Amino acid sequence: MSEIPLFYVYTYNDVDRAFWAEHLKDWVPPRLLDAHVHIVDPAFQIEPLTEELRRSYWVMELLEMQDVETAARCIRTVFPGRDVGCIGFGFPSLDWDVEGSNAYVFAEMARRGWNALALVRPSWTAEQIDTLLAQPGVLGVKPYYQMIGRDTQQRDRYLEASIFDFLPHHQLEALDARGAWVTLHVPRSGRLGDPDNLREVRELRRRYPRIVLVLAHLGRSYTLPHAMEGLQPLADDPGLYFDNSAVMNPEVHRFAIKTLGTGRILYGTDNPVFYMRGRQQWRGTTYINRTSHSFHFNKEREAPEIEAGYTLYMYEALRALKWACEEESITPGQVQAMLHDNARGLIDRVLRNK
Ligand SMILES: [Zn+2]
Repeated sequence: MSEIPLFYVYTYNDVDRAFWAEHLKDWVPPRLLDAHVHIVDPAFQIEPLTEELRRSYWVMELLEMQDVETAARCIRTVFPGRDVGCIGFGFPSLDWDVEGSNAYVFAEMARRGWNALALVRPSWTAEQIDTLLAQPGVLGVKPYYQMIGRDTQQRDRYLEASIFDFLPHHQLEALDARGAWVTLHVPRSGRLGDPDNLREVRELRRRYPRIVLVLAHLGRSYTLPHAMEGLQPLADDPGLYFDNSAVMNPEVHRFAIKTLGTGRILYGTDNPVFYMRGRQQWRGTTYINRTSHSFHFNKEREAPEIEAGYTLYMYEALRALKWACEEESITPGQVQAMLHDNARGLIDRVLRNK
C-alpha cells in the first residue's frame, strides 16, 4: 500500500503499518482514551508565528493545529479497528482567538461524544470559569504559562512563573467547587522536581482536593533523571494523576509505573506533534529529536537507511510503554487501565459532579 497523508507534513506509510502489526496490534486494547490532544480549527490563529520564533525551538515548527475532522481521520488511520475517545483542547497561546477556539472545541468534541478542556486566561473571573464548566462535555481547564502575556520574541518568557500566576486561586476555588479537571503543564526549567513546583503542587492538592489534577507529560519527565527528581517526591499522593503524553523514553515509562502504579497514569499523545516521524535519544537530562523531515531544527541527520526505518513518534511512545509494561509484568487489565479505563473513570466522576 502507498503512503497516505495524515496532516501537515506527516504521512502514514508501510513502515508504520508493519510497526503497528509487529509491535502494537496485539497489545493495544480495543478501547483507548487519548487524554491529551490538541484539536482546533487553524482559522482561530490570529497572529502567525514570526519566523524568528518559529526557528527558536524545535517544537515551534510543529505547531500546525488539526481541526476535528482531521483528528478523527488520523485516529482512524493510526488505530485501525480501535474505539478511541479524546480529551481535546486548543492551542494555549495568546496568538490564538482563545474564546473562539474554546467554543469550537466544546461544540465539536461534544458532537462526537468526546470531552474538552477550556483554555483559560489568568485574568478570567470565577464566574467566567463557572460559565465554561457549565458547557456540555467540558471537564475543566488547560492552563498554561504562555497565557500570562504575549511575546513575539521568545517562547519561554514566563517559564519561571509560579503555577498560581497562570492558574490563580480564585479560579482554583471555582474548579474545586465543581470537582473539575485540570491538566497542568508544570512551569520552570527544573521541571516537576523543582522545589517550588513540588511545593506548589502539594499546596494545590491540599487546598483544592476535589479537583482532578493531571500533570501533563509525567511532569515533563522526558529523561530518567528528571522523572526520578519529580515523580518520587509525589508518589505518596494517591489522588494525583499524570498523563504520559509526549514521553518516548522507555526508562521513564518504567520508572513511572514502578513509582506511581498503573492506576494513576493516563494515556496521551500530545498530537498533532507526535505524528512526527523519527526517534528520540537521551543523555543525562537532555534529549535529541531525530526526524527525517527537513525542519530547521533538524541539523543532525542520521544515515538515510536509518531514517527510512523511522515510524511515528506516537508509535515509538507506545512501544516504549509496552516495553516498560513487559519489564514490570503489567497485566492486560492494567494496560487497559492506563490506555483507557483510568481516564474514563475520572471523566465519569467529573461529569457526575457537573
Ligand atoms: Zn500538549
